[in-house]
Amino acid sequence: MELKGMRTAVIGMGKTGIATTSFLVRKGADVTCFDQLDRARLKGIEAFRESIRIIDNWDGTSTGDFELLVVSPGVPMSLAGIESARVKGSEVISEIELAFRFTDKKIIGITGTNGKSTTVTLLGQILHRAGIKAGVGGNLDVPFIQLVENDAHYEFYLLELSSYQLEGIVSFRPWISGVLNITDDHLDRYKDINEYARAKFRIFMNQTAGDYAVINAEDRHTVKAKRSIKAKPYCFTTSKRTRRGTYCNDGGIVYIDGSGNKTNFTIDNPSLAGMHNVRNTMVCIIISKLLDIPDAVIQATINSFKGLAHRIEFVAGVNGALYYDDSKATNVDAVAVALRGFSKPVILIMGGRDKGGDYSPLSELIKGRVKLLIVMGEARERITKAFSGIVRISAVDSMEAAVLTASGEARQGDVVLLSPACSSFDMFSDYKQRGDAFRAAVMNIKGGRQDERV
Ligand code: ADP
Repeated sequence: MELKGMRTAVIGMGKTGIATTSFLVRKGADVTCFDQLDRARLKGIEAFRESIRIIDNWDGTSTGDFELLVVSPGVPMSLAGIESARVKGSEVISEIELAFRFTDKKIIGITGTNGKSTTVTLLGQILHRAGIKAGVGGNLDVPFIQLVENDAHYEFYLLELSSYQLEGIVSFRPWISGVLNITDDHLDRYKDINEYARAKFRIFMNQTAGDYAVINAEDRHTVKAKRSIKAKPYCFTTSKRTRRGTYCNDGGIVYIDGSGNKTNFTIDNPSLAGMHNVRNTMVCIIISKLLDIPDAVIQATINSFKGLAHRIEFVAGVNGALYYDDSKATNVDAVAVALRGFSKPVILIMGGRDKGGDYSPLSELIKGRVKLLIVMGEARERITKAFSGIVRISAVDSMEAAVLTASGEARQGDVVLLSPACSSFDMFSDYKQRGDAFRAAVMNIKGGRQDERV
């Protein structure tokens, strides 16, 4: 693809948009950047401000005459300005597609509703320990387009992929794709779960018989998608057996290669506690085996893996209660996973920006395990409505108030869990800032009270 002199537009100037702009400028394209923010609030454009045009305070209704539009994941493809450009003949793609056109390296792509970052991080560590030079990023940390700037440096790419990024692919084709699960999420941007699942399953659309697909055999959406894929499927399951892939046996994980050859792995690391992490680890094992990584390297990395921050992360014990930060739980299934992991009474903090999903699948778990539900943020009325009569509910205005309320209720052995089921953008810049606010509030009460470390 020749970008020199091409009239291009970058829509959305967050981290991905900045990396895309930098790439396009370096390739000699004529670049116009669009963002809804005022230019004074755009970060990271200084380095190439002289080489681009900026349309700020953009209302999304029109763009102009461009040959190529690269749309950032935060911007809906359905905006009138993007749609009309497409109708006028502009090619509309995501940054993932653009990056793909500038590399010949093999790609491992991981998508799904929950577990992407954990899986990509663990697998990245296995590849690293095996001495494989992999460019790790995508939706996680470094955008693919930025990795591709150092293409010569890498043997493989390992990418976390969101549904938004996959919506904008045309020819993108991973050598190995992995779909972890499909549950309700982002229903503020998709009509229903089927439309959301279809966006995710685009990961398979250009794969051929020489490629591989790693599939959750217990998820009804992925099982259905498996019927129409061309790639060779490998399944993971915690409750059944499979001919090719991974399953559970005697508390461990068995890998089976399709010819009956089996390898056993153990998962005995508190940072990978819970069946959800067994599944994430299974995906890593299958892909590592496809790459012929020695079993000892795979096992050693599973043993030494440190969990990611803000995913059921232990924060502190205060007066005998245990405080956990699961700020990354931005949908109902992630909260369910967290609740299932605790047998002690839970004081649960939920809320934030509502994503249009149904909270009711949590009813049984909340009834059985939660002694007090603390709600905050924009979604608090919807959440209160969903669980009133099921559990005692207390509404608060800030994270500090949530933690104070929780600490007032918490008894010896109780768990206080921040697991919001919502995005953070109503009160925080992202889930990390929300989790940090929780931690700070916990440390505050810990400092102010006599601490009996548990
Ligand atoms: P993602 O990158 O897909 O958002 P993360 O690894 O960051 O996934 O985890 C997000 C949330 O989902 C956390 O609350 C975590 O505990 C939970 N989670 C992780 N893996 C799974 C899984 N396989 N199934 C369901 N929930 C999971």
